[in-house]
Parts: sequence; C-alpha cells; structure tokens
Amino acid sequence: MARALKTENSSTQAGQALAIIGQNIDMAYDDEGPICQDTGMPTFEIKTPVGANQLVMRKQILEAVGEATKRGKLRPNSVDSITGKNSGNNLGPGTPVIHFAQWEEPDIEVRLLLKGGGCENMNAQYSVPCTLDHLGRADRDLEGVKKCVLHAVWQAQGQGCAPGAIGVCIGSDRAAGYHQAKLQLFRPLDDVNPNPTLARLEEEIMGEANKLGVGAMGFGGQVSLVGCKIAATNRLPACFFVSVAYDCWAFRRLGVLLDAESGAIRKWLYRDPERPVERLVAEGAGFRLTGREIRLEPPLAEEKVRALEVGDVVLINGPLITGRDAVHHYLRHHDAPCDLRGQILYHCGPVMLKDGVRWRTTAAGPTTSSREEPYEADVIHRFGLRGVMGKGGMGKKTLAALEAFGAVYLHAIGGAAQFYARCLPKVTGVYLLEELGVPEAMWVFEAKDFPAIVTMDAHGNSLHEHVAATTGAELEKVGTRD
Ligand code: SF4
Repeated sequence: MARALKTENSSTQAGQALAIIGQNIDMAYDDEGPICQDTGMPTFEIKTPVGANQLVMRKQILEAVGEATKRGKLRPNSVDSITGKNSGNNLGPGTPVIHFAQWEEPDIEVRLLLKGGGCENMNAQYSVPCTLDHLGRADRDLEGVKKCVLHAVWQAQGQGCAPGAIGVCIGSDRAAGYHQAKLQLFRPLDDVNPNPTLARLEEEIMGEANKLGVGAMGFGGQVSLVGCKIAATNRLPACFFVSVAYDCWAFRRLGVLLDAESGAIRKWLYRDPERPVERLVAEGAGFRLTGREIRLEPPLAEEKVRALEVGDVVLINGPLITGRDAVHHYLRHHDAPCDLRGQILYHCGPVMLKDGVRWRTTAAGPTTSSREEPYEADVIHRFGLRGVMGKGGMGKKTLAALEAFGAVYLHAIGGAAQFYARCLPKVTGVYLLEELGVPEAMWVFEAKDFPAIVTMDAHGNSLHEHVAATTGAELEKVGTRD
C-alpha cells in the first residue's frame, strides 16, 4: 500500500482515496482497532504434527473468536441463512471456517485470513472456454486464463475495494478450485512462484491489470492490483475452471508457529521483527482539505442537491443514518422507523461497543451499495431521501431515480473504518437493533466533517459508468492481441 500511495497521483480522486486509506491504516495500528468494519469470515488454515489434538484446538479457536467479538475486534458477522438472525458472537454452523491438515514438521502452524463480504462477492469462477465482455473468447490455455483473471479484476471495479490482491487456481473442480485460489492469498506478496511459467503469468497479469485504469475504489487510476498469486492443479478432462479469489486492499492475514508441546508462540508469520512498522502517511500529510469542499447539513433541500456534480467533494455535518441490506428489505413492507426526508442513507454496518449505557463507534466504513440496487430507487422515492452513500456505485435504476427525485450518490472510501469512525463522534439513536442485530440496525450518528465524493449526480452522470467504459476499452486491447 505504501508503494500504491507513492505511485498514484495524489491530486486525483484515486490519490485522495489512497490518502484516506493510508491514514486509516495508521489509525487502526495506533488504536489496535479493526482496519475495516467488515472483519470478514474468520478462516483458519492449520497444520499440525501427528498427535496434536485438533478437537482441543477447535474449541480454543471458537473461544478466541467469541472473545475477540466481545472486545470489538471482530464485528458480529455470523448470520443464520434461514432466519436472518445474527448469532452476535461470530459462532454458528460453518463459522468460523477451520481447516486442519497434517504435516511432517514438529510445530503447529496457524494462519488466519479475514476477508470481508465486499471482496468475497467479487470472487469469480470461469468454466473455459467462455466468451468474456471486451475480451472475446477465452480458450483452454494460459492466454485464456489471463483473460479470465483480467476480466475478474475489471468486473470488480471499486466494489471489492480496489486495489485488490488476487489468488487464482487453474484447474481442479469447482469447490476445491475456490479453496486453492483462497490459499494463494496466504502467500507473501513479494514471493516468486517456484513454477517459472506461473511466475511469468503472475507478472504479466500484474502489468496488464495495472494498465486497465480501474484505480483505488474504482475511481480510475494507476493502481488496481497489489498482488496476483496463481496455483495450478490437475483437472478432469472435461472441466477447465479458472477460480479467482479477490481480496481487498485491507488484505488481513496473520499467522503463528506454535510449539506443539507448550503452545508457546515460536514465530509470527507476516511480521518481520527486524523491520519496524512503517507509517503509511507522514505527520500532517494524508487527506487534506482544499477549501473547495461543499458542506452538506441534512436535512437537505432539493436545490442544494441538484447543484452537486460528479467529482464534487462534500463534507457531511449533522445527522447520518445507516441502512444496509436488512433495512432495505424491511422498508419494502414497513414505514421507516424515523423521518428520512432530506436525509442521507449510509450503506454501513458499523462495529459498535456499549460502554455502560452509551454506544461507541469503533469502525464505520461503507459497504458495497450495488446490493441495494433492486430496492434503492423505490426507497429514494417513498421516503424522500436526498442522498445515498456507500461504495462501489450503483446501477441504472438508481441513477434514474436520482435524476427524477433530486438526490445524489456519495462515495465514501471502502474499508476506511477508523477514519470514518472519528467523523461520527456521537450516536444519537438506533432503530431495529433487536430485530436486525448490530451491523444491520439503523444507527443515527451525528457526523462531523465526514468527507465523501459525488460519483452519481442528479443530472444522469455516473463516474462508475465512465470508468467501466474506459477500462473496458483498455481490456479490449488485451482481447485483440491473439
Ligand atoms: S476493505 Fe472493503 S471489501 Fe475489504 S472488508 Fe472492508 S469493506 Fe469489505
């Protein structure tokens, strides 16, 4: 990420996004807080010597996950798929994910990946041969594999919180292919693939992907990918899958090597004790106000909102109300529990802690807005919203509603949960907490200088459509080379 910050032009929207991300990473380190509010699906990959008791280890992992959730390090993320009820402690059928394998070493290796929902939704699996947008036919060869991977990066745009890192598996079956692809995400970013053919492919994909111009948050820019790691496994003669696991800039991994007798930590993985922790943003640098920002103080008047244009940077002061998947579902059949006229609905599932009777926000970045696309136009119309805010942009139906009813889409920086938690110093109310659980409830915050960028305005303009078209044209250059 330090390299990405240096590469990107700091005066562009992508540069500003990276500045906020850099500041956010530093803040999360200082406070030992979640780097992003979506602390993901805890996924443990464990290697044990013969004789290690996996049942005991599983029990200890469950206890540790419950404790980390209680302390606000992990957001309650485990939802019953039938009832929609959040278990509240990240425990439940299938969560956390724990895989054990035996190895010949005397120690126990434990690796943990926290991969959030935004980037998980951007995973992709291709059954080759296939025909891809802007790239044409992908055949059963390495050129075809490259096309599939570049298509996955292009398709993710900002929704997976670019710049991303990807793990790829060529071959295998559908289920094992995805698992193998995810395992590649545990590789250090600067390692070199021992297979020279795959090493070359990784390098080529990195080069091509960073020419596409997706950029941080899909704002258009030079850094779209920070890593590409590929494995190849055998396949059935009839199948040729390319599985892509897309991880976001937050890319949270950690690991330990444990003494199998005592359980003592022998070594941390992904940490170099010789190398001091680098701050990403120098004191006084980072996201800076220019004086051209537009202050928004909800409730907003229609004329104020119609005057906004794509590219404007706004600072929100005043009430900010969250509403994500479950709230949109709820609003299909119910009235809103509070007056939404003139308000901005923030697609966000914060991490909240209760100190006595007071709620405290420990992480509050945006979630992927496109999931609300089927509902948003109706919500804007029925409840008189003047803005919706999230990340990754929204589609044509919402764009038409913004124009028809006088509203804008605001883009906050995905994953910048610590940065934004500081812009939401006060919680003034919460609705539907019992029914929907912490991340899905409707929280009412008092925002203070909360920065966001207008990426869809009330005149039919969408930065997301523009970037998808220009990057699609770049993708076509790859597709016409064979
Ligand atoms: S940085 Fe973005 S994609 Fe990654 S976990 Fe956070 S919200 Fe999800």
